[in-house]
Amino acid sequence: MNPEVMKDSFGRRVEYLRVSVTDKCNLRCTYCMPLEGMDWLRRDELLSYEEIESILRVMAPMGLRKVRITGGEPLVRRDLPELVRRIAEVPGIEDLSLSTNGVLLEGFAEELAEAGIQRVNISLDSLQPERVDRIARRPDSFRKIMAGFAAAEAAGFTPIKVNVVLMAGVNDDEVEAFAALTRERPWHVRFIEVMPTSANLEISGGKFFSCRDALRRLRAIDTLEPVEGPPGNGPATYYRFPDAPGTVGVITPMSHNYCERCNRMRLTADGQLRPCLFGSLQTNLRDPLRRGEDLRPHIEHTLRVKPERHHLVQGSDVGSGGLVALSQTGG
Ligand code: SAM
Ligand code: SF4
Repeated sequence: MNPEVMKDSFGRRVEYLRVSVTDKCNLRCTYCMPLEGMDWLRRDELLSYEEIESILRVMAPMGLRKVRITGGEPLVRRDLPELVRRIAEVPGIEDLSLSTNGVLLEGFAEELAEAGIQRVNISLDSLQPERVDRIARRPDSFRKIMAGFAAAEAAGFTPIKVNVVLMAGVNDDEVEAFAALTRERPWHVRFIEVMPTSANLEISGGKFFSCRDALRRLRAIDTLEPVEGPPGNGPATYYRFPDAPGTVGVITPMSHNYCERCNRMRLTADGQLRPCLFGSLQTNLRDPLRRGEDLRPHIEHTLRVKPERHHLVQGSDVGSGGLVALSQTGG
């Protein structure tokens, strides 16, 4: 096979698709999803695993190389390993990873690894049990997430990336403790700046904490050397303490725009192909697929309209495209 390369109109090579398999979640993280009032997708609106596979079989020969399964919480969707097995068999997909909140990972890690997941990102916003439960708004979350980390290590996922959304006055006092983890374990801790949605303006405005401030505090402890970071080609910039097995990464959608390096598109659980996380641009792939049409022109169109950058504004939902929660698009 002689694969093509997907390029957008700004010359960026697009080879990475984040596939959301559900908009539902077993947590209610304060910055991500409102406690109540979410309008869930109906079952018949969701892409089946077979439909997801069909879309990937069109995109892989066009140049798709990497797939990350996300959500909502992907592990709440029934029989996720079946989807993993299907994707792992698509010729051309070289890299298959999963983003999870970790709560159900203990029961699935081994099967997922056997099915073809190579790497996991696990979200953990605090190292303090009560804090995690308060941010996630579900009891006993911390204990289950920790069991998920242990299972991820036992299953041999490498690298393990830890996603930490920073919030002033909520968990910003744990920047040093999270960074200290990278001296003990080969984990890649990534601090993420909170992005505004229409439902989280109090947090994304009033509790915004910049990764620049996090780095400044860490540099006061020790040297932080810029490094290439683990595989994944994501938006994070990575640093390492001397001799640490892990790294500290920062994802700075607000303080430092990284869109010029963007290599991805997103497929929502109901089959909308989104060229950017934010904004209102999306192409319906589900209905043409169900009508038996060729998806290629729809995918090419989405590539052509991929915007140069997002237009998020701190503390405002201008630019978020009416998004209520990142769980709707896969984050
Ligand atoms: N449920 C999985 C999880 O929590 O990892 C996957 C989906 S979640 C939407 C993907 C990532 O987006 C998580 O790391 C989460 O912390 C992050 N996220 C959610 N809402 C966010 C927001 N408003 N700003 C920044 N990151 C956010
Ligand atoms: Fe669920 Fe992930 Fe959103 Fe938290 S960040 S509510 S775990 S989708």
